[in-house]
Amino acid sequence: MLKKNDVVRETIIDITNEGYGVIKVEGFPVFVPDSCIGEVCEIRILKVFSNYAFGKIDKLLEPSPKRITPICPLSKRCGGCSFGHIDYIEECHLKTKAALQTIRKISKIDLDTVEVLPTIPSNKEVHYRNKAQYPIGKDKEGNIKIGFYAPRSHDVVDCNFCYLQPEFFSDIVEVVKKFIEDYNISVYDEIKHMGLVRHLYIRYGEATNEVMVSLIINGRKLPHQEEFIQRLLALPISIKSIVLDYNEAKSNVILGMEYDVIYGEKVIMDILCGNEIEIAPLSFYQVNREQAERLYNVAKEFADLQGNELLIDLYCGAGTIGLSMASDVRKLIGVEIIEEAIEAAKRNASRNEYHNTEFYAGDASKLASDLAKRELHSDVIVVDPPRKGITPEVIDACVTMAPERIVYVSCNVATLARDIALLKEKGYRTTKLRFVDLFPRTVHLEAVALLTRDK
Ligand code: SAH
Repeated sequence: MLKKNDVVRETIIDITNEGYGVIKVEGFPVFVPDSCIGEVCEIRILKVFSNYAFGKIDKLLEPSPKRITPICPLSKRCGGCSFGHIDYIEECHLKTKAALQTIRKISKIDLDTVEVLPTIPSNKEVHYRNKAQYPIGKDKEGNIKIGFYAPRSHDVVDCNFCYLQPEFFSDIVEVVKKFIEDYNISVYDEIKHMGLVRHLYIRYGEATNEVMVSLIINGRKLPHQEEFIQRLLALPISIKSIVLDYNEAKSNVILGMEYDVIYGEKVIMDILCGNEIEIAPLSFYQVNREQAERLYNVAKEFADLQGNELLIDLYCGAGTIGLSMASDVRKLIGVEIIEEAIEAAKRNASRNEYHNTEFYAGDASKLASDLAKRELHSDVIVVDPPRKGITPEVIDACVTMAPERIVYVSCNVATLARDIALLKEKGYRTTKLRFVDLFPRTVHLEAVALLTRDK
């Protein structure tokens, strides 16, 4: 039986979808971060649970040719880049393999009957993100820390840069930090639920260069607000919007639902799939613009539009996916729960001169059922839900509307697998599958599945 501090000499046989290497010690699985398949190592056991254990490499005896030196000196402390030590193309290959395994296991669908197209890697491996959320904290000596949470904790590690983000984000972090220090602004303490500033949130429209800076506060007023604005505007960056977001809730949800625009515009603009898209403080927007375009192109190919369809886009956010297809359909209907995103979607439709669209704010379960009750026959339905996937109500409503094709865009293959299995029971067969990597170096992977109605 393995116990803490045992050292074993083993070969890494697999990588999980969380990016951990796997060894088996007399059949007992041990997960080892920062390892590559085929590596022979001495591994120290750190923690033993009933069905598995965690270990770490003490000595790397035979490194893999796929191993690289992580670009980031903080890779071990941050934990965000689980694949930072592996060659990028190998990362795509490993993430694809793990995703297929999960889909096979959960959905029980025979993947030999599905056309799996090659995974689309990102051209950019670094600096690809257009958004960052930094927690703000204090160390024991009272020094301000802005950076990231240490893995599996809410301790803030002070760090003003991340290779996944644009370099100028660091300058904004520095300005905000100096402002908090200079004016002795209080910092939020999660345990005591006291103190003012909680998070710094930066968003960037890559195609337009426009930047939005939001400060999330536990309260309603920022002391020295004017100085805060002036210091940000002194940066050689095109800051178009500064927002104070109010989050007085005792929860780890980052954004509050109320805010004030304290400088400039309420939204920033970007261009996506040829459309001008506005990004509002509370609406979702994909973090990797170039790969989002590729993702939506895959969805469009799968949708195989002929020009006369009624297309329904469920979980549409600011309308981005549906609008990328709007010129190829008779009519587009989008549904999304965040009211502000729907307002953005409507403006995005009119500013890009699509007059064949309707957008509705509300819960997809309810609104999809309402659409089904209107006896609409939809030809193609696109769904792009959050990580928890779609609900049985959405599945039933989709089935009632009897589209020829359902295009399922997913950021979580486990719920995708669950949902495509349910849809199979209702007569929708998964015929194509393609992954797009929007999140190089991290464990995440986007998937698009095409489901077609059985004749
Ligand atoms: N398709 C958009 C957004 C995808 S993210 C894009 O590519 O940009 C998932 C979206 O689902 C988010 O905008 C989120 O606000 C929305 N959402 C979450 N729960 C929902 C629900 N129950 N009903 C409708 N929309 C929901």
